[in-house]
Amino acid sequence: MDKLKATKHLPSISSYQGRYFYLALLVVIALMIITVLGNRYVNQVSQQQINHYTNRSITTKHLSQIQSSIRDIEDQFYWQLLEPGASQNSRLIKNIDGLQHDLTAFYRASESLEDPIFLDSIAWLQSLSETLSRNASSFVHISGDIRERFPGTLIMQIHMAPHSESLLHQLGLMIQEVSNSGNSTNPAMLNLLNEMRFDWLSMLSEFRLLVANRFSVFSDTPQTGMASRKSNIDLYWDLFQNNLRKIKSIDASEDLLFIAHNTWDSVDTHSKEWFKSFRLLLDSLSRPDWRKDIFYFNNEIKPVIGEIKEQISFLDKGLSEQADKYIMSLAQATEHLSHTINLLAFLGFSLMIAAYFYLKKKIIQPIAETTKALNMEASGERQAIIPTPNLKETRDLVEAFHEMRLQVYKRQQGLDHLAHHDPLTGLPNRILLKDRLAHAIDIARRNDHYIALMFLDLDNFKQVNDSLGHAFGDKLLAKIAIRLNECLRSTDTIARLGGDEFAILIENIHSKDHVASMAREVIRALEKPFKMEQHELHISASIGIAIAPTDAKLPEILIRDADTAMYEAKRRGRAGFHFFSAELTRRAKKRLELERRLRKGAENHEFLFHYQPVINLESGALHCVEALIRWQPEEGELQYPDSFLPTLLDIGIGRQINPALLEMVADMQEQAMLLTGRPLCVSINLSADNLRSKDRHQQVISYFKESDIDLNHLIIEVTEDTLTSELAFSIELLENLKQLGIRIALDDFGTGQSSLNHLRTYLFDMIKIDREFVRDITTDPSDAKLVKTVIDLSHNFNAKVIAEGVETREQYDFLIDAGCDYIQGYLISKAVSAEDLVKFIRNYTASEHVTPGP
Ligand code: C2E
Ligand code: CA
Ligand code: CA
Repeated sequence: MDKLKATKHLPSISSYQGRYFYLALLVVIALMIITVLGNRYVNQVSQQQINHYTNRSITTKHLSQIQSSIRDIEDQFYWQLLEPGASQNSRLIKNIDGLQHDLTAFYRASESLEDPIFLDSIAWLQSLSETLSRNASSFVHISGDIRERFPGTLIMQIHMAPHSESLLHQLGLMIQEVSNSGNSTNPAMLNLLNEMRFDWLSMLSEFRLLVANRFSVFSDTPQTGMASRKSNIDLYWDLFQNNLRKIKSIDASEDLLFIAHNTWDSVDTHSKEWFKSFRLLLDSLSRPDWRKDIFYFNNEIKPVIGEIKEQISFLDKGLSEQADKYIMSLAQATEHLSHTINLLAFLGFSLMIAAYFYLKKKIIQPIAETTKALNMEASGERQAIIPTPNLKETRDLVEAFHEMRLQVYKRQQGLDHLAHHDPLTGLPNRILLKDRLAHAIDIARRNDHYIALMFLDLDNFKQVNDSLGHAFGDKLLAKIAIRLNECLRSTDTIARLGGDEFAILIENIHSKDHVASMAREVIRALEKPFKMEQHELHISASIGIAIAPTDAKLPEILIRDADTAMYEAKRRGRAGFHFFSAELTRRAKKRLELERRLRKGAENHEFLFHYQPVINLESGALHCVEALIRWQPEEGELQYPDSFLPTLLDIGIGRQINPALLEMVADMQEQAMLLTGRPLCVSINLSADNLRSKDRHQQVISYFKESDIDLNHLIIEVTEDTLTSELAFSIELLENLKQLGIRIALDDFGTGQSSLNHLRTYLFDMIKIDREFVRDITTDPSDAKLVKTVIDLSHNFNAKVIAEGVETREQYDFLIDAGCDYIQGYLISKAVSAEDLVKFIRNYTASEHVTPGP
């Protein structure tokens, strides 16, 4: 369980999040490892470098110390060769000891370099230095003793010097002896002797020069110097021997009385011994070890020093090679690092490229495809190919899109149905009807057929809606739809255009009669009462018919034409049908134009009242005035109700009970009051639309209440027709009005259906006998009788009677006789403007009574 839970926290590898997470983890780990390793590597290399550098610098110091020591030692040797002496010797030995000491230290320091060849070299160097030390002792010994150092010394000191001294001594004795004796040969003898001494001494000095030459005192090339001295010595030797022979021969012939005759032999011997030694010396001097210290130095010391130097330079080279090696390894390390960095950069770059392609394949492409599919979907193409990605997020997206597509499709179908059908009845609506019409007209035109469109309007549906409520009205509409369906063929299209309007499309008709019989059938079907709840409703319909393609070729026009024909059917008394004609179009156009102007007129307050006086027959006084509506368009003549009122009431605007018109009445009353000091009674006609709904009731009552009209002097006129439409409502309103103090008059009495019924049932304050009856009272006895009866009856119900349309004196007289209460008509006055009414009242009041015209 715990394991399951734990895995739940980790994102799945099959999602972008998961893949991103693991990839990031991998990259981070790789980077961390590389960083740690790289750091360690760099640290290690740099530490190694530092150590090596330190060690190397120590060893180099030692080595240079050793180098300078060996140079010192060599110098010492040379000094010793040049100036042999004990003081130099001790220094030399000390230096060699120092060298050995240095070498030991060097060895120890070099151990850290861990280079066996290097250490071997140093060990070898140590052994060389020991050899050097040993040889140096020998050298010191040789150099400290002149005879050891210069073997010729022995010959010179032991052999040559005594012989030469003895020889010169004897020569000196002889010269002394010769010069002391007075012998005649003496001068020549003395000369010879002196010559000999001179030759010997000259030879000695040549000998000294020869030795000096050996030591290179006078020449860089001792051999040449020595050779020339040697020949000089030989010359002097020969001279000396010649003179000796001469003296010997003289001595043999004349007794020279030298100390001893054997003196010559002794001189001869000494000279010969000397010369023999000289030859030996010469021989020794010409040998390489003529000077032993140099010889020893050259053979035993110099090679060792040379080897030491060689070894040192080998080590030096080794050190610099090692330095090179380390520099190389450092360079290698940086190279490794740069390789690593390059590799990292390459990996990063590859990763980016891979990520790009991955992103493109896994996200961008599916999204682009989904977007494309969406766009195709939006433009109505259904065959959109939906990608099927395998990663969670894109898959979710695509699935969501798919789901959305299905939902949208379903909803669209629903909307399609909604858009083309009426939700209440389920019938096609105006849009679908138009579609079908267009299609049907097309086919009819191609096949030379005809189609008919019936425009059906229920005659008194508005009252049902107003009195029984909209819900009830809706149910009724649904039932009507069913009934229409029952009486028509399934091929005919029945549509609901809105409200109580229906349309029926009949295709492939044979004749006008055929259509007419169908229309009759429809009307009959609807005339059967509808039983709903406790009500039994009687519905009638008016039908307009238009034929395509004769009347119109376009659906909208055809509908409009049928509508116009329906209007005509209504006008002609409802519950009937009428075919469209061109004349109807003209009328319809006129009506449309009138409607437009009336709407404008309502906005501009172009409606006003004219007033017609009503006279009390008994007193002749002004009883009241009737407010009659007029229309003064912005341009044009004053219009009378006949020309506009039905349309105005039809379109539901400009109702005469509105605050603006009521204010005119109030003004009129005020002016009359100012004029006469008595309140003016005004009667206002109330149209049927004010009686239909509760809302309208309320509004009418509130308008009256809020107006400045003197309600106690207000009469409301209603016609019989108004009352028949919906009795219950009308009575309620009338009673409410009566409560406000308003009186009620029954207008146009006699034209309606059940006049006397109403008279009995409802208590009206006044009855207005219609013009139609008054017109013929003097000529038509039945009319005269009727009027008289009405007057009597009204009086029985306590209602006053007003005769309308009184134009003649005869009528006037008849009405007085008949007991009529009031008259109204051109005999008294036409309806006049408020201004003219003021004049009328002023004149009338002045005359105090009516003076009927001729
Ligand atoms: P109505 O209520 O019967 O009004 C009397 C009509 O008879 C008036 O016509 C008036 O001018 C006319 N008249 C009066 N005396 C004579 C006469 O001696 N001879 C003849 N031939 N006619 C006479 P008007 O003003 O054209 O009104 C016509 C109808 O229009 C009215 O008949 C009334 O039903 C309606 N009407 C007028 N004003 C209003 C109004 O404000 N509201 C409503 N609902 N209807 C109105
Ligand atoms: Ca009237
Ligand atoms: Ca009337």
